[in-house]
Amino acid sequence: MSESTASLLPKEAVRALSKYREMTVLTPAGEIELVFGEAAVTIDRVWLEEVLAEVAASEGVEIVTGTRAFPNPREGECVVAAEGARAEIASGAGLCGRRTYLVGAQYIIRSGDGPDHPVVVALPRISKEFFGWVVPAGDREYVLGLADDPRVGSVTAKALGLRNLFTSLWGEHEVVERFGGLIPVCRPCTPAREPYLGIGDSVCMVKQLSGGGLFAIARAAPLLARSVAEGADYSALIAPIMRTLHRSWVLTKVVKALGGYWSTASLLARAGLRRLSFGRYDLIHEGVMKTLTRNLRPR
Ligand SMILES: Cc1cc2nc3c(=O)[nH]c(=O)nc-3n(C[C@H](O)[C@H](O)[C@H](O)COP(=O)(O)OP(=O)(O)OC[C@H]3O[C@@H](n4cnc5c(N)ncnc54)[C@H](O)[C@@H]3O)c2cc1C
Repeated sequence: MSESTASLLPKEAVRALSKYREMTVLTPAGEIELVFGEAAVTIDRVWLEEVLAEVAASEGVEIVTGTRAFPNPREGECVVAAEGARAEIASGAGLCGRRTYLVGAQYIIRSGDGPDHPVVVALPRISKEFFGWVVPAGDREYVLGLADDPRVGSVTAKALGLRNLFTSLWGEHEVVERFGGLIPVCRPCTPAREPYLGIGDSVCMVKQLSGGGLFAIARAAPLLARSVAEGADYSALIAPIMRTLHRSWVLTKVVKALGGYWSTASLLARAGLRRLSFGRYDLIHEGVMKTLTRNLRPR
């Protein structure tokens, strides 16, 4: 996440593992450097969740695990749909329509060598519909991951391909941990319909271009809390966030029309683009849109 997103979270919940202002994109037509005006941080996600749970518990929230909620709100009650990608509650409440998913697979690996800043892997053999990544996570550890549409081939096989790519570029490594999850592919949903309020993946508050959800969640959560406490209009409060997400969704459609991430990145590399500067990490889609319209305009 960006430093500005991290700054919205409780300080004690953010354990930064690495920080960077540049990324290298590997494309079939060569490399592109991305440079950012603000730093992005790799954080310890488990630590974040644990500290947030502690903060909530210390404020009197009862936390129940190992069970599913089937909300049946009574008069005067409200339900917050924060159930993540599958969105059964949000869909049942009519907040969201149809969605598809990318499957994400990640490894934490340990290696004597590796990149000193994140590498985005835009190669079709690693991901046809999205991209892969290699991100330094401190102490000789790296996060290796990719997401793809499971209908276009085995994600597990591609994850193995990504590990092989790492080995060929930086050498042998050992796997410390593996995990994964779903990334919803959908336009941002309606965030509120009495008595339901939605946040996060459940209502597709996801930057579709990068699959990132924490940008919007960190901003929407305090507004949601205000709506619940004071009855303020949640949809109106989060409208600017939803507009930003919507622009990212539109750009994702453009990227898809150009043949996907690897194909779009190759087009830019072939057009001679070797370095791209962005102001804000969170608004990368706006910078990409400008670059596309500038570089792909018919001459
Ligand atoms: C591989 C991968 C890499 C990612 N990398 C990034 C990244 O670098 N930066 C970024 O910003 N985002 C990233 N994301 C996206 C980010 O993780 C999500 O956007 C974010 O976790 C969504 O948070 P959430 O609270 O909406 O849902 P979740 O984190 O999914 O939490 C929802 C919780 O609700 C529980 N639940 C579901 N239904 C019920 C029910 N009926 N009753 C009770 N509990 C229920 C689930 O078990 C889960 O614990 C990544 C996602 C994936 C899959």
